[in-house]
Formats: sequence, structure tokens, C-alpha cells
Amino acid sequence: MYPFAHIGYTFFAVELVFIFTYIFKKLRNKDPVAIQWGIRYVSLYALLLGSMGPDIIDKAISLPITGNGRYIGHSLLFNVVISMIVLAIFWKNKRIWIGFIFGWQMHILLDLGGFIPWLFPFVNYEFPVRELSFLEMIQLPSVYLNEIFGAICLITIIVLYVLRKVPFRKMLKEDLSKKLTYLVSLDKNGKNI
Ligand SMILES: [Zn+2]
Repeated sequence: MYPFAHIGYTFFAVELVFIFTYIFKKLRNKDPVAIQWGIRYVSLYALLLGSMGPDIIDKAISLPITGNGRYIGHSLLFNVVISMIVLAIFWKNKRIWIGFIFGWQMHILLDLGGFIPWLFPFVNYEFPVRELSFLEMIQLPSVYLNEIFGAICLITIIVLYVLRKVPFRKMLKEDLSKKLTYLVSLDKNGKNI
């Protein structure tokens, strides 16, 4: 899978969790204004990095060596190690570690259709060499359709944010901090979703 599909599907999955959480809490009559801003649950930068992490590592390290874009970054061992490291470093800011680890798992989940060296480096894999060039790959329906759907997901999310009158600049500025002050002002006069 390519970037638009990975990022679009991952962000959309998170957005769906937000929407369901909102509906669930609203049905239970909890203050709908205060809980409608679900995006507070994860850092978008961490989610973005996690959702592309395995490919950033493997495309840089292994593609020139093995001819395959899936290597140690897609293995179980690396998954566990990087998750533990991020968890340890960002323990106090759960928006970061939840975003990163969720993004990483979504990446692997979305890659399930193809070869994954799960047990690398404990197993000697025959890495299948990619025969098609990038231009040939992008012309395959399974590739370009996923990219189009991924892009549609991202556009939908942006539209949802605009409808909720989310102040983008402030949101992105505060994305990595624990305190999200823009939510306070939104909660005060937020009557929308
Ligand atoms: Zn991948």
C-alpha cells in the first residue's frame, strides 16, 4: 500500500472511533458539548509518523539491498521494540504513544495482503523482488483505487473538522502537548458537530 491509503485509512479509523465515542456518550446523556472533540485522544503527528513508520524505515534501509520494501520495520520484533521505546519515552503523554502505536499497528494491518517478514531476523526469508516499477505499480487497480479511497478519507476528515469549526493552526501547534487549550474555547461555545 502507498501513502494516501495508509494515512487516509488510519486517520479515518481514528475518526470513526471518535464518532462512535461521541454517539455512545451522547446516548448516555453525558455532556455532549464537552466530549464532542474526539480528536483530543491522539496526536495527529504521532499518528501520521506511526502510520508510515514501517515503510519509512524499510524503504530507506532494505529496498536497495533486498529489492523488497518490507524488512525489519515490518517484523514483530521491531514492532514490539519501537512500541516499548515510544511508550517509555512518552509515558506521560498518552496522546503521543497511543497515536504512534495505533498508527504502526494499522500500517501492518493494511499490509496484510502481501508478504510480511514477521519473524525477521530469526527466520531467513527469501525476499520477493519487486518486478514492477513504481509507475507500473501505481497503474494497478488495487493500488490506485486504494490511493483514491485513502485520499477521499482524508478529504472527508478535513471537511468534518471544518464543520466542527476546529481552528487548524492552533490544533496543529498544540498537537504534541498534553494541554489542548483550543478545546476549552471550543467547548465554551461549541454547539456543533
Ligand atoms: Zn508497509
